[in-house]
Amino acid sequence: MSARILVVDDQPLNIRLMEAKLGGEYYDVRSAGGGEAALRTMAEDQPDLTVLDIMMPGIDGFEVCRRIKADPTIQHIPVVMATALDAPEQRVRGLDAGADDFLTRPVDDLALFARIRSLLRWKQTHDELRTRLVTSREFDLLDVVVVGEASARPRTAIVSDFSIEADDIARILGPQYDVTIVEDVPQATSVVTESMCDLAIVSLVSTTFDGLRLYSSIRSNPASRQVPIIAIIEEGDRARLAKALNLGVSDYVVAPIEANELTVRVRNQARRYRAHSRLCADYERSLSAAASDVLTELYGRRCLLSHLARHLAVSAAEDKPLAVVMVDVDHFKAINDRHGHLCGDRVLQEIARRIEHEVRVTDLAARYGGEEFTVVMPATDEPTASAVAERVCNAIHARAIVVKDPRVTLPVTVSISVAIRAKGDDVEAILDRADKALYRAKSVGRNRVVAATA
Ligand code: GH3
Ligand code: MG
Ligand code: MG
Repeated sequence: MSARILVVDDQPLNIRLMEAKLGGEYYDVRSAGGGEAALRTMAEDQPDLTVLDIMMPGIDGFEVCRRIKADPTIQHIPVVMATALDAPEQRVRGLDAGADDFLTRPVDDLALFARIRSLLRWKQTHDELRTRLVTSREFDLLDVVVVGEASARPRTAIVSDFSIEADDIARILGPQYDVTIVEDVPQATSVVTESMCDLAIVSLVSTTFDGLRLYSSIRSNPASRQVPIIAIIEEGDRARLAKALNLGVSDYVVAPIEANELTVRVRNQARRYRAHSRLCADYERSLSAAASDVLTELYGRRCLLSHLARHLAVSAAEDKPLAVVMVDVDHFKAINDRHGHLCGDRVLQEIARRIEHEVRVTDLAARYGGEEFTVVMPATDEPTASAVAERVCNAIHARAIVVKDPRVTLPVTVSISVAIRAKGDDVEAILDRADKALYRAKSVGRNRVVAATA
């Protein structure tokens, strides 16, 4: 399920070079020879990311980027601008036109791959939220507008032990941001995670202060996992930059800091984060209003079916895999018969909770019927889906479920099937295969995962 990348350049040589680099990383690369062609291809193909040259005859890269970011049907596709020009003002112009990132030729592979990975990760989560929002509201996709300025001043934390550097940044950002300067990791962690910070700027210039440790602490806390982090690095410190990018830094600037560049990078990151947060909040609201099953608080059957239909269409159009995982409680009738219906309900709630805990945010878990659950996993192939299914199976089997006070615990197991989208599948066809595989899991002994044959 390789991501599709569109390379836009008027020089065939540059396109071939990019194709070789990106193809080597197993991306599916397409190309366009100019601005007009790029806009057309993006609208038709909906690539996952676009690498855009600046100097092109006809409309130049800046203008192409502006048009992309003004078009609601393609503005969510990340744009990386690449050019031979290395003037800071060019970089600033590109970012100002709405580019999500900027690379200077000759393109540095480390930076290129790290940026592409991080932008693709971000886009996947964002797309999934958009799709869900659409599903739960049964809206038309284009009605969901995700870009917009927030009224409040974004909160920014700067972490540095160099007061001159921090003061500089505070002065540059001052009028538009609510800036807090912190000087050590524990304080920084609490500011970022507890004060609803919109962005963190972390210095990697210092040798006494371990910025890298702070990144992992910000990224590992659910409250701050999505908060953008901008690193400040010293020119040429590639080892630390590589580490920072691997730890999930969103962007970086090289010291000495160029004021305009910092301003646009901070603005782009904060804006993206706000759009993302708003989308999450909308999604939460619509979820509680529309979709959920009262007992388990998972999605209900109707919502699952419409979500699955939409995802089948999207994954077929993008030629990506899609997994459906079906979970059925073993001998559940006996639990009801022996311990009563209320205990049965309690077991269903706990199983729902454990399923949710094991799957990713981009997966959608629903209560399909009585004691059956279904998870839709976009962009997921068979080995991955089976691994998650095994995890769910173990998570339920490993700990008996507490159903009463004083502690009455019941050992419970589930049988699980995995079906992957096949060519021409509709909702009924894929669910039917999952159903048959589930039947096999039951008949060969329960408490196991069985993959459907396509
Ligand atoms: P198998 O291992 O073959 O799946 O056996 P099973 O007993 O789990 O399957 P069966 O389909 O025979 O029984 C499912 C039971 O689930 C029957 C039904 O009364 C019960 N059930 C369905 N919905 C609920 C519910 O909301 N709460 C409770 N407590 N029980 C429910
Ligand atoms: Mg059943
Ligand atoms: Mg059952």
